[in-house]
Amino acid sequence: MKIPFLSFEETNKKIKTQIISEFEQFFDNAWYVLGDNLKRFEQEYADFNQVKHCVGVSNGLDALHIALKTLGIGPGDEVIVPSNTYIATVLAVSYVGATPVFVEPDLITYNIDPAKIEDAITSKTRAIMPVHLYGQACEMEAIMVIAERHHLFVVEDNAQAHGASYNGKLTGSWGHINGTSFYPGKNLGALGDAGAVTTDNPECARQALILRNYGSEKKYYNEVIGFNMRLDEFQASVLSVKLKYLNEWTEQRRETADWYNEALKNVDDLILPKVADKATHVYHIYLVRTKQRDALQKYLADNGIGTMIHYPIPPHLQKAYEHLGFKKGDFPIAEEIADTCLSLPMWPGITEKMVKEIASIIMKFMNDRK
Ligand SMILES: *Cc1c(COP(=O)(O)O)cnc(C)c1O
Repeated sequence: MKIPFLSFEETNKKIKTQIISEFEQFFDNAWYVLGDNLKRFEQEYADFNQVKHCVGVSNGLDALHIALKTLGIGPGDEVIVPSNTYIATVLAVSYVGATPVFVEPDLITYNIDPAKIEDAITSKTRAIMPVHLYGQACEMEAIMVIAERHHLFVVEDNAQAHGASYNGKLTGSWGHINGTSFYPGKNLGALGDAGAVTTDNPECARQALILRNYGSEKKYYNEVIGFNMRLDEFQASVLSVKLKYLNEWTEQRRETADWYNEALKNVDDLILPKVADKATHVYHIYLVRTKQRDALQKYLADNGIGTMIHYPIPPHLQKAYEHLGFKKGDFPIAEEIADTCLSLPMWPGITEKMVKEIASIIMKFMNDRK
């Protein structure tokens, strides 16, 4: 049996006729950018995320960039980011001219460790960017307390965690302004690039609206040096269709995680995901860890099972960030995760039979190596 890392087969089947009808309306209306589809989706996503404002933008990286910009963060400022995040979080900090300051994650949840944040705060620190990595909510209460104590902004990177929550409050609704991505492979994904910022703050929302559209609220009147970072009408209508299924798809992901947890629970040398108290997980990624990661990945590939590594090189060791002067060993927890992590197939529609098949291949690998 061949099992890909990611498949759109089931989700696409569900939405195909609706998408085709949305496309026809979009095509016939002949209004392609900044129209009613975008307004509708922004309202729907704000309702879903329980925030007052959602501003659709071109992608997740641009959302984070705009979010930092609305807060006036720039050169000379420092922004705290997890040492094991996807590069986009760090790039957004660089785009506004600020300096990323890495803080190690907790080795159980893989999310930024609140106990280590205060040591990284200096007189230049302006914001903390928690990333709800793999779909699990960060410990937001502790993070908000630290931010308040030091008068810092919080900007959540919610690209992987649509619908996750901490103590009942949704990710993407805690920070002053937050960014998310609707890249096709995300839990809520468009048919191309898309993203959004979410906020309860009307002034941040207004700034984001202006920044995404050339710095202009009134056509041809430019208040600030803005960008072209708009979300297309067609992508917005796709997202409206898919948003209706998101909770159902999240439930399927959770059920899949339960199947994996059960099937893999007795495998030695395999660390399974753990969900912290008060946090929920939407399993954007089902990630395991083992010292034999590379050999296991190859064995699974040889047996037709697709896997991925999220992520093989932590930001501080990327060539792009050489100028920060970090070396191997500076963030040992992020490095440990990078060296041992493996993401197993996870998508709405994967069957229990497939999960059992994957688990039995993993068990065979482990037994052969005893
Ligand atoms: C995908 C992702 C982004 C960037 O989103 P794009 O839409 O690809 O620009 C940012 N942060 C995290 C954690 C992501 O997973």
